[in-house]
Amino acid sequence: MTKPDLLMLTPMRPLVEAALEPHATLHRLWEAQDRDALLAEVGPRVRGIVSFVASCPRTLIEKLPALEIIATSAVGYDGIDVKAAAERGVVVTNTPDVLTDEVADLTIGLLLATIREIPRAERYLRGGHWPEAPYRLTATLRGRTVGIIGLGRIGKAIAQRLEGFDVAIAYHGRRQQADVTYSYYPTLTGMAQAVDTLIAITPGGAETRHMVNKETFEALGPDGIFINVARGSVVDQEALIAALKNGTILAAGLDVYDNEPHVPAELIALENAVLLPHVASASGHTRDAMAQLAVDNVMAWLKGEPPLTPVPETPWPHAKRPV
Ligand code: NDP
Repeated sequence: MTKPDLLMLTPMRPLVEAALEPHATLHRLWEAQDRDALLAEVGPRVRGIVSFVASCPRTLIEKLPALEIIATSAVGYDGIDVKAAAERGVVVTNTPDVLTDEVADLTIGLLLATIREIPRAERYLRGGHWPEAPYRLTATLRGRTVGIIGLGRIGKAIAQRLEGFDVAIAYHGRRQQADVTYSYYPTLTGMAQAVDTLIAITPGGAETRHMVNKETFEALGPDGIFINVARGSVVDQEALIAALKNGTILAAGLDVYDNEPHVPAELIALENAVLLPHVASASGHTRDAMAQLAVDNVMAWLKGEPPLTPVPETPWPHAKRPV
């Protein structure tokens, strides 16, 4: 039996190629001198895409008439046109749960780093300023109310950790959750008015685009802290830079941006922003767990079994099965 052709869009953890190579012919798009030529050659045979965070637009899906599965090694799949995939009966799988604790841990670290100015204080010491004077006093987490935008798997893990810090917790989402006792706000502006700290951890995509904006920052106020571990698209980045510059809010901690990996010089120049290069899930342990789940999804599909974690938009019974 000929091995199925799989297209890899990005480099992945070594375990992916080691696990899939015996069962499939792998085509590494990022290594191709001429990507269009590779797609023209192998596109008609490609039955699956395997990728780290995938950018998979309709135009790519249309070039792959035999496509049956897109397995991304990430929980967020806003870069994949799931509507185009669903129309074609292509199943899309992601990697929920296995990164939840890692991302929640990092979020707490970023929150504390932002409020207590940990990177700036360290720069102060390394810059030799300590003998001149003690580092300045900072804002505090004490007495804060934290509003979580998107109380899903990761949002709940963040809330669970925040309980240990003895702060009040609220959340905003499209619906109130019956099994949760935190204060619910049906509007983001309403929550921003009621809290002094916001953490964004929703999916990206059209529905959440710029949901955090000028109005949100004005409602949050001059003591406000904004943390974004969701996606850059969730916040109006220009409005955020303006709010940080003019004191509409106090500070921000960001892991995600518009147009990554490019971060505007204006943002980099701001002392009241703590900036991370999209690393919330980026430990070797967790990236391996994500990669393994992507492999497990592909291996299940290869055997004609249901993939373990299809996204809700492409439920497996409606997706095409291997022939
Ligand atoms: P879940 O699907 O479990 O949670 C998403 C939450 O967002 C839900 O509670 C949902 O609540 C809420 N939500 C969805 N749409 C909206 C909306 N339009 N307005 C308000 N709330 C909304 O996902 P996870 O917790 O597993 O992951 C969340 C996201 O975190 C990922 O999609 C990804 O974008 C991001 N992420 C970032 C990482 C990083 O490296 N920085 C790493 C991992 C994830 P409801 O349905 O009630 O609206």
